[in-house]
Amino acid sequence: MAQRYVIVGTGAAGIAAAETIRGLDPGSDILVVGEEPHGYYSRPGLAYYLTGELPERMVFPFAQQDFERLRLRRLHARVVALRPQAHEVTLDDGRRLPYDRLLLATGSLAAMPPLPGVDLEGVVKLDDLADARQILSRCRRRPAAVVVGGGITALELVEGLRACRVHTHYFLRGERYWGNVLDETESRIVEHRLQQEGIPLHYHTELAEIVGSRGRVAGVLTQDGRRIDCELVAIAIGVRPRMELAGEAGLAAERGILVNEYLQTSAPDVFAAGDVAQVLDPLSGKAVLDTLWSTAVPQGRVAGQNMAGQATPYRKSVPCNVTRLAGLTTTIIGTVGQGRDNDLIGIARGDSETWRQLPDALVAQNAFDVNRLRVLVAESRLLGAVVMGDQTLSLPLYRLIAHQADITPIRERLLQPSARLGDLIAGFWSDWTEHHAAP
Ligand SMILES: Cc1cc2nc3c(=O)[nH]c(=O)nc-3n(C[C@H](O)[C@H](O)[C@H](O)COP(=O)(O)OP(=O)(O)OC[C@H]3O[C@@H](n4cnc5c(N)ncnc54)[C@H](O)[C@@H]3O)c2cc1C
Repeated sequence: MAQRYVIVGTGAAGIAAAETIRGLDPGSDILVVGEEPHGYYSRPGLAYYLTGELPERMVFPFAQQDFERLRLRRLHARVVALRPQAHEVTLDDGRRLPYDRLLLATGSLAAMPPLPGVDLEGVVKLDDLADARQILSRCRRRPAAVVVGGGITALELVEGLRACRVHTHYFLRGERYWGNVLDETESRIVEHRLQQEGIPLHYHTELAEIVGSRGRVAGVLTQDGRRIDCELVAIAIGVRPRMELAGEAGLAAERGILVNEYLQTSAPDVFAAGDVAQVLDPLSGKAVLDTLWSTAVPQGRVAGQNMAGQATPYRKSVPCNVTRLAGLTTTIIGTVGQGRDNDLIGIARGDSETWRQLPDALVAQNAFDVNRLRVLVAESRLLGAVVMGDQTLSLPLYRLIAHQADITPIRERLLQPSARLGDLIAGFWSDWTEHHAAP
């Protein structure tokens, strides 16, 4: 009899799993259930949609023919319960769906602060296409806006609002931006660029209340008693994995659903992948969360392989994100920071807990104008890097870090105070590639 696969979530992990299963089990029945009305699209692309750089149609990586080619049955519905023992899920309309293998790829949702006024019309977040559309529609009236939070999404909101010519204030609870991933110089580069763009940054500023008038945002009050009038408040204080189904079904979970190296949860025949999965990091021996597209896809693929009967371990790769911070292309690779960020309640979007597990490492850094390079140097290898501006070394650094290349020949020179990091790494990369046929 044909295997019945049910995948909950039509995001990067869910679709990657479905594609993989179809390749391995051509005769199977694959049902993809998602509550998202717009189906499958690139969430990172939403930032560029907000700034007007990407038309809406370009955020959809799949066309109708792709779903037909893969013979995926799609159901627009919300799964409200999971009964692992009975091997079935329940939909919001009461229907029960049996499965042989189930994938939970339910992603994450923006956390909202428990503040007075947070439910007012005009308080927005950036989780999905509907949010992005709503922000763009509100921007037509050119409201004044306040952005609260940290990480990539807060900046994407600031930049999106600025592109709509909305006067935007940015509140930071601490003294610098994204302090647990960026170092002080990198934070200051980003902040300086925001200020140059005319964004008022309010340091040590915390929201006390969102003030409303007739159900709509009219302003904010800060904890130190200031009031700023505005009609839009955008919140980006972090995300929470969507664990409702797993929690009620009694699956093992911490900050996300705990999975073993095959991405199996504690329940038989139930797998998890993507933002919702808390996955073992062999480097640290800890189970960590990643909220990265580039992690969700390979996790979905490995989960799909294992759901289709293989026993493929998931090898967590070095987390990497190429993003834009205040217009400056920035690549973050491996372990680069530590500590807490006062602007975030936990993990943000496009983030990795691995970035913050800074073990014993020395820092080498160079800066020229807005181009900045920081590498984390351990005993004989590089652990992480932040490349801002000029991206020539991003890929070489990613490969050297991912392959744990032995950098002993240049280690001491890298750590010299006046070291020309770019030249040293480029030279080492060139030698290294000669001895590694397919780096
Ligand atoms: C604005 C923004 C910017 C980002 N920027 C970056 C970036 O620069 N770099 C990067 O690598 N990553 C970035 N990300 C993160 C990246 O998009 C996510 O890590 C990735 O989409 C996770 O994929 P996923 O499949 O786990 O979850 P999602 O893509 O969130 O998909 C989960 C799906 O499950 C559905 N669902 C949840 N519960 C149920 C239920 N009970 N029943 C039915 N359906 C359900 C949801 O509706 C959703 O469609 C960004 C995300 C956003 C929103």
